[in-house]
Amino acid sequence: MNTAPIRKNLAAMTVKPNLLEYEKTCAGFSWKKVRRELTGLPDGTGLNIAHEAVDRHADGQLRERVAIRCLGRDGRFVNLTYGRLKDRSNRFANLLRRLGIAKGERVFCLAGRIPALYPVFFGTLKNISVFCPLFSAFGPEPIFQRLEKGNARVLVTTERQYRKKIAPLLERLPELKHVLLIDLEYDLNERVLSLPRLMADASGVFTIPPTDPEDMAILHFTSGTTGMPKGAVHVHNAVNTHFITGRYVLDLHPDDIFWCTADPGWVTGTSYGIITPLLHGVTSIVDEMDFDAERWYRILQEQRVTVWYTAPTAIRMLMRAPLEQRKRYDISALRLVHSVGEPLNPEAVFWGEQVLGLPIHDNWWQTETGGIMIANYAAMDIRPGSMGRPLPGIEAAIVTRVDADTVQIEGNEIAGELALKSGWPSMFRSYLHDDARYAKCFAGEWYITGDLAKRDSDGYYWFIGRADDIIKTAGHMVGPFEVESCLMEHPAVAEAGVIGKPEPVIGEIVKAFIVLKQGYIPGEELRLDLIGFGRTKLGSAIAPKELEFIDNLPKTRSGKIMRRLLKARELGLPEGDTSTLEGGESP
Ligand code: ATP
Ligand code: MG
Repeated sequence: MNTAPIRKNLAAMTVKPNLLEYEKTCAGFSWKKVRRELTGLPDGTGLNIAHEAVDRHADGQLRERVAIRCLGRDGRFVNLTYGRLKDRSNRFANLLRRLGIAKGERVFCLAGRIPALYPVFFGTLKNISVFCPLFSAFGPEPIFQRLEKGNARVLVTTERQYRKKIAPLLERLPELKHVLLIDLEYDLNERVLSLPRLMADASGVFTIPPTDPEDMAILHFTSGTTGMPKGAVHVHNAVNTHFITGRYVLDLHPDDIFWCTADPGWVTGTSYGIITPLLHGVTSIVDEMDFDAERWYRILQEQRVTVWYTAPTAIRMLMRAPLEQRKRYDISALRLVHSVGEPLNPEAVFWGEQVLGLPIHDNWWQTETGGIMIANYAAMDIRPGSMGRPLPGIEAAIVTRVDADTVQIEGNEIAGELALKSGWPSMFRSYLHDDARYAKCFAGEWYITGDLAKRDSDGYYWFIGRADDIIKTAGHMVGPFEVESCLMEHPAVAEAGVIGKPEPVIGEIVKAFIVLKQGYIPGEELRLDLIGFGRTKLGSAIAPKELEFIDNLPKTRSGKIMRRLLKARELGLPEGDTSTLEGGESP
């Protein structure tokens, strides 16, 4: 696998990166210092995400600056300035209060990336209620499960979603006090109310009540890649991590135009699609539509996007699109590209360099960590295939669990569980209603992530696989990512998903599912060619012994390959929870 480093040339950078001296910054880092850069609520009454992201800018020089530009499906867009966002979120906070929704009570939102979502998000936080996002494409059952498990008191959604999915559920949700409809001008009944009417009646003046940094702010369900989604609880204090990752990882500067392509249905869409860019007072682009190569290149060009945060699946889809398409657009404003959510194949990093003119910076984190924990930084050389180095302030290690309370810390180049020393501000505070599962994530002071990785002698971390996906074959431990990345180097391969298939003699055999690039036709010759390619590159112990062509890999709505589903289907086993599987219901 080609993992030759990509060197950074600081002199050629038009914008000086925020994090220039990694070691020195790590050595001098303290979360207390980060906290001092946030303003906190007036009169020292605490820390509230909405104040840091919106109000402090709206009350200052950035009042008229566009905070969020929502691009609609019809080519029109809505600008939410910091001032307008303050007014709208104040109204939402006031109306929650009038409806009797208290601190800590859950406000769910089932909507696409539309302008109404953002005042709901910040207004909920201002009332110290708890925001919980849902993917708009979820079907009724996943919606019901989450509303019930999360003790929803309010659901904000559209009339269409309501009629199609929610109305039949209401009887089963006695705790749900109100449904607020974004696009209905009149109330349906006492329980189902018009949001525009309530907003018009509400005052635009609101004083955020004293907020303890440990007050619950957001409830986020995990992606469900490995099983039933868990409800991770986050608190207002997380804003410290959001702020510092915005500076050090995303490298935000005041004039940036930032675009995070993630949906708020998963954590990247809230932490980085909503909160972080606003903390830094920049303009954030939100696109209502889903991936489309042409549209995305046009957005990069027309919006003059400077910093872009996307995911490996989207990048692999762009890699499949014809090069001529890319060449029709001027994306010269772009200076930094980041990726998260899945391992980023080295091939994709190089593709970025060649086709976008910029290498792609991978970073790693989870719903549970609340913010980016390991990253490739603007000023630091990239080792393609590596997730990068820990965020200043984060202590990471490769460990082996010894017992419930103890780990053994491994040295460089040894595979083990990726662990983080507890105590960073955005760490999840619980899995809702599942204390036992939460407790199992920890061994003493270490949070065990459930991912396997290695660290090299320069401190770069390399993802091996999720603990659940690791393949044990003839005495070897094989991470699917390594095999998938190798196969992606073959010119015919667009995407690969690799699993272990039980086999009595050697434990498991490696099986690959391949999606071909446009213009390639599946056939026996190509299959044998790919098996041979794998064997030459990886050696016969690790190379796939079975290989099958497939039109699409099963993915979560956040774009992660669901290897457990490939495996269940291969073995004829039950598929388990498929609520986050892409391609089911639509809004
Ligand atoms: P569930 O926990 O419900 O199975 P999930 O783990 O996919 O779902 P998320 O919290 O959205 O839910 O995803 C975090 C996981 O995504 C990480 O634990 C890791 O396995 C994977 N991941 C995220 N970023 C990267 C990355 N840069 N490289 C490799 N893997 C990544
Ligand atoms: Mg997980």
